[in-house]
Amino acid sequence: MVRIEHIGIAVKELDKANELFTKLFGESNYKEESVESEHVKTSFFQVGPNKIELLEATSEDSAIAKYLEKKSEGIHHIAFEVDDIEYEMKRLASEGFQLLNEQPKKGADNKLVCFLHPKTTNGVLIELCQEIKSK
Ligand code: ZN
Repeated sequence: MVRIEHIGIAVKELDKANELFTKLFGESNYKEESVESEHVKTSFFQVGPNKIELLEATSEDSAIAKYLEKKSEGIHHIAFEVDDIEYEMKRLASEGFQLLNEQPKKGADNKLVCFLHPKTTNGVLIELCQEIKSK
């Protein structure tokens, strides 16, 4: 793995959270993007070399909606950048980690992503992400 790519924070209301984090960082978000397949709307902030992703559910079927039902707003996942997501998925599966998707899927911000089940990662939801390179 290369580095932490971003930290994902689950929020109930994206507009309110955007205001709060804009005040906190002293800078507004650089992007908002809906990921239809995940039923989420995301908002990205750049903080120095780091990135924060806010996630709001757009439907009750969203993993974020289910997360907010069980828990509260807060840190939802940590995303790690990888060079070769298929290689890392195979490697981690062979190490006994449970992958939440068998194939890399299209995530927000031009990334291929895969999540690891938190029950196999000490309770931390981990996202692998690889930049989609334009061929
Ligand atoms: Zn993420």
